[in-house]
Amino acid sequence: MKVTEHIERSKGNTLFSFEILPPKKGDDLQTIFSNIDPLMEFNPPFIDVTYHREEYEYKELPNGLIQKIVTRKRPGTVGICAALQHRYEIDAIPHLICGGFNKEETENILIDFNFLGIDNVLVLRGDPIKSEGVFKPNSQGHSYANELVEQVTNMNGGKYLHEDYANGATDFCIGVAGYPEKHFESPNLDTDLYYLKKKINAGADYIVTQLFYDNQKYFNFVDRCRKAGIKVPIIPGIKPIAIKKHLTILPNVFHIDMPQELVLEVEKCKDNKSVYEVGIEWSVRQCKELIKYGVPVLHFYSMGRSENIQKIAKELF
Ligand code: FAD
Repeated sequence: MKVTEHIERSKGNTLFSFEILPPKKGDDLQTIFSNIDPLMEFNPPFIDVTYHREEYEYKELPNGLIQKIVTRKRPGTVGICAALQHRYEIDAIPHLICGGFNKEETENILIDFNFLGIDNVLVLRGDPIKSEGVFKPNSQGHSYANELVEQVTNMNGGKYLHEDYANGATDFCIGVAGYPEKHFESPNLDTDLYYLKKKINAGADYIVTQLFYDNQKYFNFVDRCRKAGIKVPIIPGIKPIAIKKHLTILPNVFHIDMPQELVLEVEKCKDNKSVYEVGIEWSVRQCKELIKYGVPVLHFYSMGRSENIQKIAKELF
């Protein structure tokens, strides 16, 4: 079922969902399942699965030469989506990125999603290759998420790259990313909103936000979106802090601010066990306020670990 249908059916009650990462190459699926199993009691209508593009590795050969290897450390997004739908009978949402794909490959993966009975895709530009630092599109691919949304929308209308197939029209519900504290490459929030609206105009049905710790940032973002004429559901992204290092890692990776009150609470902690508890308490407070505000879904970034999300969900659902 589509995310928008899940939201309609919930009749104003906030839903619970989360995102997982495919395991690193060589790791098994059982670890993923053992993290997901305890979360099923909170009835997630959907689970997102991230997509990870290729990376470069440099290996020294016995003759001293350096060999560049192109590798994908977390493959398996499509397979995991199929496994989740089969095991839990809920909607798995693959992330679909521009990076590393040409348009033909994108069309083919969308055909796979369609055959697997996947009803939703979260469409993104994708992160840059780690060692490159700057996003470089495939020469035959898309540069921005709005272009990829357009390709999915075209397929929903039976318009494939080289031919029209009325019988092959897909019916994907399309999600896109939004940034309450703006995307790090954007000169300001107005410009970022301008491009967010382009994604909506291209056919996106809902927005999932970057993680944030200050609800006011989300409330302001929703206000600005509504004023800009963006009417689709805006799902907040939540990630509980779990270790002291998150105070520096998360702002660095996700380009977000931490409220001073949270920083002081974490700094007071003598060990990571106490930080973990502070992270849970903060998220519970944050989520209670978001539920009161009427958010359609609380979407948790699990990063592969679920005990803290389970504790938070127990307080809320
Ligand atoms: P875009 O919407 O394309 O925006 C990128 C930047 O370009 C912004 O600064 C925007 O303002 C600007 N811009 C947009 N359109 C145009 C245009 N037409 N012309 C000029 N400028 C434009 N990354 C992954 O690799 N895999 C994942 O699975 C993944 N999942 C994510 C899930 C969520 C909920 C979020 C919030 C992010 C996720 N990311 C993922 C990270 C994401 O790929 C990065 O944040 C990326 O840098 C931007 O992606 P986007 O889709 O927001 O890009």
